[in-house]
Amino acid sequence: MTAAVPRPDRPPRALPRLAVAGAPLLEVDDLKTHFRLAGEVVRAVDGVSFRLDAGEALGIAGESGCGKTTTALSLVRLLPANASIVGGSIRLHGIDLATKSDTAIRRYRWREISIVFQGAMNALNPVARVRDQIAEPIVERLGVDARTARRRAGELLELVGIPRARGSAYPHELSGGMRQRAMIAMALACDPAIVIGDEPTTALDVMVQAQILDLLERLRERLGLSLILITHDLSVIAETCDRVLIMYAGRVAEEGPVAQVFTRPRHPYTQKLLAAFPNIQADRRTLDVIPGTPPDLRTPPPGCRFAPRCPLAMAVCSEVVPPEVTFADRVRVACHLYSEGSSGEPVLVPAAATVGRA
Ligand code: SF4
Repeated sequence: MTAAVPRPDRPPRALPRLAVAGAPLLEVDDLKTHFRLAGEVVRAVDGVSFRLDAGEALGIAGESGCGKTTTALSLVRLLPANASIVGGSIRLHGIDLATKSDTAIRRYRWREISIVFQGAMNALNPVARVRDQIAEPIVERLGVDARTARRRAGELLELVGIPRARGSAYPHELSGGMRQRAMIAMALACDPAIVIGDEPTTALDVMVQAQILDLLERLRERLGLSLILITHDLSVIAETCDRVLIMYAGRVAEEGPVAQVFTRPRHPYTQKLLAAFPNIQADRRTLDVIPGTPPDLRTPPPGCRFAPRCPLAMAVCSEVVPPEVTFADRVRVACHLYSEGSSGEPVLVPAAATVGRA
């Protein structure tokens, strides 16, 4: 007998979750993912922690090379051969994915957590029909027969706005927007709790980008999905996400509700990143640039990794890794400008008012 196949639009999940009762959806704690490159270690992700609750959308942003895609690939354990998780945990429903074997992780990938990659033309198999590609993980991971899986693939295509009949097309016969929708349908194939979008709209024109973001938002509401969006585009996060995590050089600089972080950024890197982002509603005619470049992660600076570029750097910044502090509005920041106040609310350290290099 084959397993029951949930309808794609059924909000409560029909499949039993692989879970520890009462555990949060996703808790990443002190994650470290390093690459080996020509005999040297590249600390691409170096102590990243965050949490994702059911139905929540988290955006992860930062400059190229900050570790956001490596973080995403670590979550689904699809790292390149020269990369490995060397520390920390990735608890999904209380189960640590970081310690699972390559074989065991296959029980979780697609079924519990799936990913939509950037550039659907590269991610889809060019010589297989789209419907068959969506049906494949349904057969493999849920153990249903091919005919049922193809029917569900058709339902998923309709769910993402592609006529069922177009499922017989090959990827090159679809537009860029349709291919990206097909990738989203594939990510939903096994009814996962979490979908990660790794720059899911980067290669698309602005109109199609808006349609895809709208689709993700509607799917989140309809299916009760949790989303992690990896992007360098802060406007995508502002439109789509509840919380944002700003990464710099493999570490978390700032994390919190989007409204708070974007209207009152506290970390100097977040402030610079927002100032460098185009805003058509602002009077400014020029964009700020962040001077310098991110550090070489084979030999990162010993203290705050942003110190060589930070206009507010103090002596301590070059020597001591800044501890995280959390404000009452649930924003946490890793910066020596703030310290725990006596009331429990972090305060600006006195030296920060006068010390700076700008
Ligand atoms: Fe880093 Fe210091 Fe600047 Fe804060 S003030 S971002 S700790 S260099």
